[in-house]
Amino acid sequence: MNPEFLDRLVQVLGKESVITDAAEIEPWLTDWRGVYKGGAQAVVRPSNTQQVADCLRLCNEFRIPVVPRGGNTGLCGGATPDASPGNVVISLDRMNRIRSIDTIANTLVADAGCILGNLRRAAEAEGRLLPLSLAAEDSSQIGGNVATNAGGVNVVRYGMTRELVLGVEAVLPNGEVFNGLQTLRKDNTGYDLKQLFIGSEGTLGVITGVALKLLPLTRVRSVVLAAVNTPQQALELLRSLYGRCGARLQAYEYFTDECLDLVLAQVEGMHQPFEGRYGGYVLVELADTADEGALQDLLEEVIGEALESGLCEDAVVSASLSQLQALWRLREEISEAQRADGPHLKHDISLPIERIPQFIETAEATVREVAPDCRLFIFGHFGDGNLHYNVSRPEGADRGWAKEWEGRIAAAVFGEVAAYGGSISAEHGIGQLKRHEFHHHKDPMHLRLMLQIKQIFDPNSIMNPGKLL
Ligand SMILES: Cc1cc2nc3c(=O)[nH]c(=O)nc-3n(C[C@H](O)[C@H](O)[C@H](O)COP(=O)(O)OP(=O)(O)OC[C@H]3O[C@@H](n4cnc5c(N)ncnc54)[C@H](O)[C@@H]3O)c2cc1C
Repeated sequence: MNPEFLDRLVQVLGKESVITDAAEIEPWLTDWRGVYKGGAQAVVRPSNTQQVADCLRLCNEFRIPVVPRGGNTGLCGGATPDASPGNVVISLDRMNRIRSIDTIANTLVADAGCILGNLRRAAEAEGRLLPLSLAAEDSSQIGGNVATNAGGVNVVRYGMTRELVLGVEAVLPNGEVFNGLQTLRKDNTGYDLKQLFIGSEGTLGVITGVALKLLPLTRVRSVVLAAVNTPQQALELLRSLYGRCGARLQAYEYFTDECLDLVLAQVEGMHQPFEGRYGGYVLVELADTADEGALQDLLEEVIGEALESGLCEDAVVSASLSQLQALWRLREEISEAQRADGPHLKHDISLPIERIPQFIETAEATVREVAPDCRLFIFGHFGDGNLHYNVSRPEGADRGWAKEWEGRIAAAVFGEVAAYGGSISAEHGIGQLKRHEFHHHKDPMHLRLMLQIKQIFDPNSIMNPGKLL
């Protein structure tokens, strides 16, 4: 606690933007999963870019560590301060204005604190699609999505957040505003500096505004849940569907029977989709701008062929919007079901797609050598080569199991990932959760360059200490 700093902060930003009362600060000190807990002397809630700049300038002068916070749905503890009581959490929640929507250039410009779901709905009202979509979209903020380079369920068609960003406005730790909020599709004038903020996890500055690409609204959707017995079938089904449906393939998600069991047990109102049970399930969504009948026919035709040729064992095709939503819930409720079940060791990994089946087989053997009775929950964005490879305590073990086994299991999983040429973080980032593994697995030259970039942007190391680097 630094009384002189706090006085100046309140003087510059006004009382309504600064919280210093310990009880009021408390809710800002934990992460979504309740795994991390930190300390802070103040929470700042600026209402515009100038206030962010004033706040950072002051923090830099006093060498106060700053933790940017979006919707706090991050899964790596990136928005949770460390234990030091001197931190300042800077929340963008009051910066939630849509600055413009352009349906000729097909762009949307918004404050970084806008909730992703609100931006999607605003684009839809104008007949356009903002394709970034994830289960946490009604809590996460676009600034947080950009800071983590979020993925989600439509990456197979539209790419990660990075591919949707045209411009970024950000405040550097010294209070300077980086004005890169342009909407140009083409600009080949040297290094593309805005890219550095995408995926920077709050370590280079605070993102205050974002310019995004919009796409044609896919008004018609069709979903099938296909049952498979092996991941190899899921892989072959993907090959076949992509060939037949091309760009209409909007999502290709996978989850094992253990995940389905967990959702049925932990989430109210969920129903078993098939009479029998299978090794795993693939949720496929096709979407198009028009012609619902043609889309449905295409899906039924390709799934019929897949059933005939043994690429899947059974299938339910959605016949109505409510059925479509019910099928999606089986996949989207997995994170909530895990939260209800207790602490899970999460490994958000990326692999060369064609090696996923083999990885699943050998990784299980490796993990079971370490912890024979653990429970495995494997699901994720199969179409992008992204698995959430989650490990939980054996039946009957107490909830402290995860903490005790974390290091050994992470070493086993990430060792396998490295052997397959994969990445230890596909879409959730590094935060504080994977910092150790990141330093262990990242190419030393890449790490050195990242540290040099950090030094240029943040020479006093005030931005989000203990995260990423
Ligand atoms: C149920 C559930 C499902 C999820 N599904 C997915 C998924 O499918 N794909 C996926 O990629 N992620 C997913 N996530 C993770 C999470 O939603 C994303 O990482 C999201 O992008 C985080 O946004 P946020 O606003 O909540 O950021 P926060 O959690 O608040 O912050 C995340 C990081 O970004 C930094 N940050 C936040 N705002 C700013 C800013 N304005 N400027 C600079 N730095 C900032 C923080 O310091 C922190 O390091 C899921 C999470 C949950 C709870």
